[in-house]
Amino acid sequence: MTLHLFDTLSRSIRPLRPLDGKSFRFYCCGPTVYGPAHIGNFRTFVMQDVFRRVIEATGLPTRHVRNLTDVDDKTIRGAEAAGQSLSAFTAKWRDAFHADCAALGCRPPHVEPSAVEHLPQQIAMIETLVAKGHAYAADDGSVYFKLSSFPGYGRLSHLDTRELRHGAAVTSDEYENDKESVSDFALWKARKPEDGANFWPSPWGEGRPGWHLECSAMALQYLGETFDLHSGGVDLVFPHHENEIAQSECCTGHRLCEHWFHITHLLVDGRKMSKSLGNLYTLAQLADMGHDAMAVRWVLLNGHYRQPLNFTLDNLAGARSALARLAKSLAALEQHSGQTAPRLTPPVQPAWQALLDDLNVPKALGQIFTLLNETTPATVAPAAATEMAAGLRFILEETLGLTLPPATAESTASAPDNVRTLAEKRWAARTAKDWAAADALRAELAALGWTMKDGKENYTLSPLPGA
Ligand SMILES: [Zn+2]
Repeated sequence: MTLHLFDTLSRSIRPLRPLDGKSFRFYCCGPTVYGPAHIGNFRTFVMQDVFRRVIEATGLPTRHVRNLTDVDDKTIRGAEAAGQSLSAFTAKWRDAFHADCAALGCRPPHVEPSAVEHLPQQIAMIETLVAKGHAYAADDGSVYFKLSSFPGYGRLSHLDTRELRHGAAVTSDEYENDKESVSDFALWKARKPEDGANFWPSPWGEGRPGWHLECSAMALQYLGETFDLHSGGVDLVFPHHENEIAQSECCTGHRLCEHWFHITHLLVDGRKMSKSLGNLYTLAQLADMGHDAMAVRWVLLNGHYRQPLNFTLDNLAGARSALARLAKSLAALEQHSGQTAPRLTPPVQPAWQALLDDLNVPKALGQIFTLLNETTPATVAPAAATEMAAGLRFILEETLGLTLPPATAESTASAPDNVRTLAEKRWAARTAKDWAAADALRAELAALGWTMKDGKENYTLSPLPGA
């Protein structure tokens, strides 16, 4: 029972086994906390959550580290514009991010370090890189990574190193002007007037760390020199993850990680997400339109993580009914035997196999719907129904992290009048401990295609599977 996953570096699907044989240690690049995260960001975080849940469902504990980027151009500009301290400004957006993650059912990381809290670690790393000849200080007090000192650069993104040397694939960075080569990137940025109060001392003068460095420093601190897996959105492959590899491997002399897991971008209405198109939906905006976070999670899960996923408001509207249908089918299976299935029983095959095979969530969901469509009281004995419901709940709730809507209340309300009258009679008989009458009324309900589940203070009605 091992998860096999595509690795960006080797371009192959490989089994995931922990290096230490005990727990699976992985790092995810976290959000920049300068505004609300949008659904494109959440595609990545939701898929990383499913990834973690599947690993844990195989019986392996995890150590999940995800950073908060709280010092970069965007957070500094935002704090300056808001007239707030950097820490007050980023704390507000960090809390908003946490609330969104909780609404989406994402398990919080075990460690969530922030860049500002790890300046000594970043400075120490730069000192090592300078000492080893992989970095140099410029006249203004900025420090750059010397790309030509690391022949492995470009392996992850499969870029031609000549292209890199000629600067064809270099990202723009407004603060960098003193570099030996256009493709060298900043490890430390010298203080500029527009940084306001946001600068820190260093051996090279006042300034702040470059964005790429924080992940290398915090991964080293919390996961060690080599860990199991590193993940992020596909847009981070170049230059961010290439730069992380360069910094970390030149600093420690060891491979950064065993496996790279990248999630492809989200499209909205078939188009790239952008501010100008106004399609950078946030959970709050979608909630205003009447869509809850679980429906958003459902839509974000309904595409393979290596394929672009098209998000539309129509998909979102359909999510609610898909979730309700699943809830109803599960409740019907459970009530077929009159028992609620225990949690954490073996997952249903082959949906589980689809997840273990490169996290194929759409295939797993397809298998679940097929199974439910084929299931009727004639084909499933009550005991088998309980087991199936448990296996399905395992996949849907434990590994996909979905919270299904309350199906039973809805089905009770939708039951025909004669069914509800019989149910009331049976409830009265049961309360009076007239078991013979209660059993006879249960049989009458079953003949009409309904089953009744007794709670402590009330009952719920559900159609029998296939009825
Ligand atoms: Zn990162």
